[in-house]
Amino acid sequence: MAKIIRSQRARTSSVRSASKKKPAKAARPLPKPAAKKAVKKAVKPRPWTAEEIYEVFSRFRKANPEPKGELEHLNPYTLLVAVVLSAQATDAGVNKATRALFAVADTPEKMIALGEDSVREYIKTIGLYRNKAKNVIALSEKLIAEFGGEVPRTRAEIESLPGAGRKTANVVLNMAFGEHTMAVDTHVFRVGNRTGLAPGKTPLEVELGLEKVIPTEFMLHAHHWLILHGRYTCLARGPRCEVCLINDLCRWPEKTA
Ligand code: SF4
Repeated sequence: MAKIIRSQRARTSSVRSASKKKPAKAARPLPKPAAKKAVKKAVKPRPWTAEEIYEVFSRFRKANPEPKGELEHLNPYTLLVAVVLSAQATDAGVNKATRALFAVADTPEKMIALGEDSVREYIKTIGLYRNKAKNVIALSEKLIAEFGGEVPRTRAEIESLPGAGRKTANVVLNMAFGEHTMAVDTHVFRVGNRTGLAPGKTPLEVELGLEKVIPTEFMLHAHHWLILHGRYTCLARGPRCEVCLINDLCRWPEKTA
């Protein structure tokens, strides 16, 4: 019996001493693997130098000294109409429709005389054509009522026209009036970001970034060089880095050459 009591006491004391033991310290988090830090550093692109940017545009100029926009037009007015029609549509698709339209209406007066229903018929192969036909008539009326039938020469005035936004104004100011504007479409937006020349979350950020870094002597044609580069070389899917003129300078970590 005494033996049983002794062994019970021994068990109780060992339970008590176990409950008095300090809780084990929480395990320290493991240090982040060094490799992860290295990857983070590697994706941060080296900033462009002024000499490198000059080199990029010198190469574009050498390859294509007089780049041209691909939207067909006959005068500033038809350019304005073509750009308004090109929203969310391809230049080729717009040209197909406007060749016949501009043959019969190349001024605001003729467009109004043609009327919204007929304009709609001419452009019905272009996306959002109903709304665009309405805008073409409305902007023609406004040009006659407020600007003497001429396309105005300031950004604010062009942006006040139905269907015309900042991109339209930049294209018209650049192509019709030789202003050093930078219209940012989907191609310029992609090239500005990928190359690291002018990273930005919005077209306006990219536009202002490009205007800041591109030397003045290239600004007249910079918009077209960048559009053409994005359209034919720096494609959204499968960029052709192996034939890219600036692949040694481009900062895109995923470039393939
Ligand atoms: S190297 Fe590739 S990603 Fe860079 S600009 Fe050229 S085509 Fe675009």
